[in-house]
Amino acid sequence: MEWRTRWHATIRWDRADNSPANVTVVERVVDDPRPSAAPARVGPRRPTRDRLLPYRQVRELVGDETTNCLAGHAYAGGSATRPVRDWWHCSCGGHLVLRCRRCPHMQFGPIISAD
Ligand SMILES: [Zn+2]
Ligand SMILES: [Zn+2]
Repeated sequence: MEWRTRWHATIRWDRADNSPANVTVVERVVDDPRPSAAPARVGPRRPTRDRLLPYRQVRELVGDETTNCLAGHAYAGGSATRPVRDWWHCSCGGHLVLRCRRCPHMQFGPIISAD
């Protein structure tokens, strides 16, 4: 698993009729906050103000969770084998913690690096 940077952009239209959702303000997660990139993703019509969208950076955890602990115990199969999920606060954004129920192993996603 890893962190990916995306953007929450605020997109405005002068009339609700012009927007695909019939509202004047919408917040969307976009890969690129530039106006030239956003309209195609939010609907057939362009926002009226063609300028840099107000945005804030967000991070998403992407990738597959591991399915086994380091000792090989499978996590799938029900409440007895499902790992205990926890969250490790960290300056990089945080790590998902999976604790095996059948042994002391813990795994982190993303893997904690030395920095
Ligand atoms: Zn970290
Ligand atoms: Zn285990």
